[in-house]
Amino acid sequence: MIMSGFKEDHAWKEAAVAEDRSFRANKSNGNRRKAPFYKVLQGMPIAVDAFRYGAIPGVTAYFLTHAHSDHYTNLSSSWSHGPIYCSEGTANLIIHMLSVDKKWVKPFPMDIPTTIPDSGGVQVTLIEANHCPGSCLFYFEGRQTVNAGDGTFKSSYIGSNRTFRYLHCGDFRASPRHVLHPAVKGKWIDHVYLDTTYLDPKYTFPPQAQVVAACADLAMKLASGEPPVSKPSGVFSWLTSTSTASNSKQSNQSKEPSKPVLFVVGTYSIGKERIVKAVAKALETKVFCDKRKAALLRCEADPELDALLTSNPKDAAVHLLPLGMITSDKLPSYLDKYKDQFSKVVGFRPTGWTYVQPSGTDQLPSIQQILTRTVQKTFTSENLKPGKQSTSTLQLYPVPYSEHSSFYELTCFALSLKWGKMIATVNVGSEKSRAKMAKWVSKWEAERKKRAEDVVAHRHLDYW
Ligand SMILES: [Zn+2]
Repeated sequence: MIMSGFKEDHAWKEAAVAEDRSFRANKSNGNRRKAPFYKVLQGMPIAVDAFRYGAIPGVTAYFLTHAHSDHYTNLSSSWSHGPIYCSEGTANLIIHMLSVDKKWVKPFPMDIPTTIPDSGGVQVTLIEANHCPGSCLFYFEGRQTVNAGDGTFKSSYIGSNRTFRYLHCGDFRASPRHVLHPAVKGKWIDHVYLDTTYLDPKYTFPPQAQVVAACADLAMKLASGEPPVSKPSGVFSWLTSTSTASNSKQSNQSKEPSKPVLFVVGTYSIGKERIVKAVAKALETKVFCDKRKAALLRCEADPELDALLTSNPKDAAVHLLPLGMITSDKLPSYLDKYKDQFSKVVGFRPTGWTYVQPSGTDQLPSIQQILTRTVQKTFTSENLKPGKQSTSTLQLYPVPYSEHSSFYELTCFALSLKWGKMIATVNVGSEKSRAKMAKWVSKWEAERKKRAEDVVAHRHLDYW
């Protein structure tokens, strides 16, 4: 037993106090917010994604999973509390975006166990997280040497010979690659720190790789003038309009070379680059974005993406825009700027929330039902439907693209590893939400013990 139920309950109560929004730094609290227990590894002087707490007592190594703001909160040019370990891409990004002093930023290689300085000999392996560029999972292995952090729990293993293994998932989209990674495969993992963003069976969405391929396929069809396979009811579809509208004769006679279609993809900060790359490659075109965004993309150290970028918007049939621009009000004026080059605009709005479950779907399925009902799911360009705001020159496609694991993927991940404790790191603010998640974790635990196979069978290395 690493931490009893009672002690864990107490630790969560401490965490709730630490994360209280009304917190104000002052003399009586030492001018710093206390770090909740799940931010510091048990028995090790190591903190993960914990930059809002200043210098955490006993911590000598600060890890950052990826460069999204909710993970690097408060990290700035004035950081001076210790070395920051992360991937090369994340290192470039925090130096570029946050002006963190280079002397603190220590990129580690991917996939190679590396000993962390001043950590009592703990080794870490960085594993690609399948989230945004630069994101990784951290797999830690070593002895417990110190009770670091602000929690009152004291481990009884400090100084013992036992090796502890912790897998910190940061933000991730779980895939068979994670559980088959040589650093992790077959190992007993004491703690898994889990990205529980979608730990609820209502979150079902198709595999990322299929969605990316569907966007590329649809873009090719639209660019070549091939009508989309299915029209949404009651929506005027401009792609088939030449054969049905009154101007069909005219357009058949005057066969001017038609202007290409402009594709715009919405993104915020970093992430969703895979859709952009796949669409541009399918259309054999370049990608345009503004200077600020281009500088960010170059930090990501992705040669494939770098080769696609251009600073000339007229050279590229794919433009990257802030997600807020991909609307029926804003895109017409954007298209107007390039009306000499492009005839129409197609917008892709990638969000994790667009996939609606068929009505009547069981909300309290058994683990077996979860494994069988979702596995048949396939997603193609025919599943992408334009939004109702479409006009003769504009079509908007919501894209069910998520860089967090679906509930099905979390389930497959949890059943494919041997672990002692799952620690939720997202949606942990309320006791009700924690209790709901804990119920699923205990279902996974019971199911895992019953199962004969080590790893849940997968359809592809990239998804179950
Ligand atoms: Zn993230």
